[in-house]
Amino acid sequence: MLDSNCTFCRIVAGDIPSTKVYEDDQAYAFRDLNPQAPTHVLIVPKEHIESLNDIAQGDEALLGHLLRLAPKIANQFGMAESGFRAVINTGENGGQTVWHLHVHLLGGRPMTWPPG
Ligand code: AMP
Ligand code: ZN
Repeated sequence: MLDSNCTFCRIVAGDIPSTKVYEDDQAYAFRDLNPQAPTHVLIVPKEHIESLNDIAQGDEALLGHLLRLAPKIANQFGMAESGFRAVINTGENGGQTVWHLHVHLLGGRPMTWPPG
């Protein structure tokens, strides 16, 4: 279900513009507005799920689908072989700022570890 107060629900609905890079019946992917790498894409479920903390047993296939899209979209940008990072910030300490589950897909430069 869409939440009209949620930025990413509104992006999925087309009420807020975004640069789409992929879409299917369950997921939508678009460029991050404030990219942290040469390629920075957000992969979101079309359904409103707040965070990884809100994943239910019935969402396992959806979660798997979102993760599987990371290498698929990375490949679309020619960065599957060179490598990429897929990140799900969760909750306040996890650095989550938008409360609609999203996978950050970052690539196009070497990443460092640990993250900040
Ligand atoms: P997080 O901090 O993990 O919740 O990530 C939220 C991400 O959403 C940040 O990287 C923001 O730059 C990005 N973001 C917020 N609003 C928009 C928007 N309207 N379009 C694209 N990306 C956005
Ligand atoms: Zn939402």
